[in-house]
Amino acid sequence: TLPLNRALGLIREVDDFPEPGVLFRDLTPLLADPAAFRAVVGGLAAAVPPGVDTVVALEARGFLFGAGLAAVRGLGVVPIRKPGKLPAVADRVTYDLEYGTATFELPVDVLAAGQRVVVVDDVLATGGTLAAAAGLIARAGAAVVGAVVVLEIAALGGRDRAGVPVRALHTV
Ligand code: IMP
Repeated sequence: TLPLNRALGLIREVDDFPEPGVLFRDLTPLLADPAAFRAVVGGLAAAVPPGVDTVVALEARGFLFGAGLAAVRGLGVVPIRKPGKLPAVADRVTYDLEYGTATFELPVDVLAAGQRVVVVDDVLATGGTLAAAAGLIARAGAAVVGAVVVLEIAALGGRDRAGVPVRALHTV
């Protein structure tokens, strides 16, 4: 649809961020545009696989899209957080990034065993982030039905590494 195409056209390419040689896709202009943000949240909401009863959103940009999607679909949203933010942590995972490592933490008492989860993030790159989040959710006894992202960078092969079915609104 036209609004979704226009929204995706607002994604800005930034050279040499966060490292020299890296082309960063900046979704900030899309978020700031009312019609574009609405179109993308609607697109994500429509891409949620059947049978999902909870949204898990990944810090930080995944929070923006995940919260919007959850509200549209009438679902709650569980944040997976970077270290040191949560007062009570159920479990954590440390995973490899292109440069260095990162850690995710799951809050206590908000993800029940047996819940059927969709994971939301802004961008799928190498897939390490989604794989780490999916592992954390699985260890809590919940089931990752799938993941939805706004943008997939296909050349990095993240879809294979993610380990869960991914739907992307746009692939480059
Ligand atoms: P991955 O673990 O390599 O798939 O990287 C995905 C994570 O890094 C997501 O949480 C994204 O927010 C972030 N990320 C990686 N590349 C980009 C980009 O080009 N633009 C925005 N976020 C990115």
